Amino acid sequence: MSSSTIERIETCLLDLPTIRPHKLSVGTMHGQTLMLVKVYCSDGVVGIGEGATIAGMAYGPESPESMKLAIDNYCAPAMIGRDVTGIQALMAYVGKLVKGNRFAKSALETALLDAQGKRLGVPVSDLLGGRRRERLPVAWTLASGDTAKDIAEAEKMLEARRHNVFKLKIGAKELEADIRHVAEIKRAVGDRAAVRVDVNMAWSEMQAMRAIPALADAGCELVEQPVASPAALARLRGRFPVALMADEILQGPQSAFEIAKSHGADVFAIKIEQSGGLFAAQHVAAIADAAGIELYGGTMLEGAFSTIASAHLFASFANLQWGTELFGPLLIVEEILTHSLDYSNFELTVPNGPGLGIELDEVKVKRFTRDGLVKITR
Ligand SMILES: [Mg+2]
Repeated sequence: MSSSTIERIETCLLDLPTIRPHKLSVGTMHGQTLMLVKVYCSDGVVGIGEGATIAGMAYGPESPESMKLAIDNYCAPAMIGRDVTGIQALMAYVGKLVKGNRFAKSALETALLDAQGKRLGVPVSDLLGGRRRERLPVAWTLASGDTAKDIAEAEKMLEARRHNVFKLKIGAKELEADIRHVAEIKRAVGDRAAVRVDVNMAWSEMQAMRAIPALADAGCELVEQPVASPAALARLRGRFPVALMADEILQGPQSAFEIAKSHGADVFAIKIEQSGGLFAAQHVAAIADAAGIELYGGTMLEGAFSTIASAHLFASFANLQWGTELFGPLLIVEEILTHSLDYSNFELTVPNGPGLGIELDEVKVKRFTRDGLVKITR
């Protein structure tokens, strides 16, 4: 196969408003910032990748700005002129020069996979071993902060057949108020939809001990990251008739192995960025499968590029017992694509074209591109 090298790498930051405020225990999002990276190759192919975080830096150590800075100043200079077709070797080389920065590396790896898929005329899922499913179930997160509004939103989603699995963001209020909120929503949707919660580490172990049985009684089927401590999560697991899922503590293959070793979760929320890229996320999935831990395709509320990269990966997983939450592009006002993604019948269709199989709308990109690293806020 003819080789190709990297000619230049460009990054930009896009600030997009969300369709409504998105309230989590760590903060409230009014918009989402996407870091887009374009890898220009000597054979004319351009690969696109993306990085995003949840609520700025409230969720983790990287930000869209830090990803741009790491790529512009450290990753890109090391990658220029190198063979772009040996993706794992190239990313291992970048890994030697740049520690950490898993989100930035995930964006770069996505761009390299997109480019290689376009080069070979195959979808990214083929580069990951081939897809086992064409469509992925997609949960929706109800996080307006208001029970009545959330119920109205759930009804709208059910009516449109867009989502029938709802994740509720709790942990910011008193336990009793949160439990009431979950119970009211489950009562409203009944058997038409599944209800799960994400606490984003807000509870102590004792609070979790009080809350989880009440959530199970209310009909909640899964509790995501109720506590921050991996040891506490392991102690809680198996005590209640509800699945416990690890998210924030799952930071790539090593942490996956540690959690699996301590029987620390029933389910893993796998995210490509948090794992450090698509290949690392494959390793996390392999560890889960070997340990009998079930899988859920997670999101960092990413835009279309990282969402679809995740979709290609999740479509290739042997197991995906809890579906996905790949709704990020629907939470922001613009998909910034020339052709819309297909969210229908409670599922997302995994694109079939070469690479990621989606095309950036440059006019829309211009409209939302930030000038420089500094964000002027209210
Ligand atoms: Mg989560």
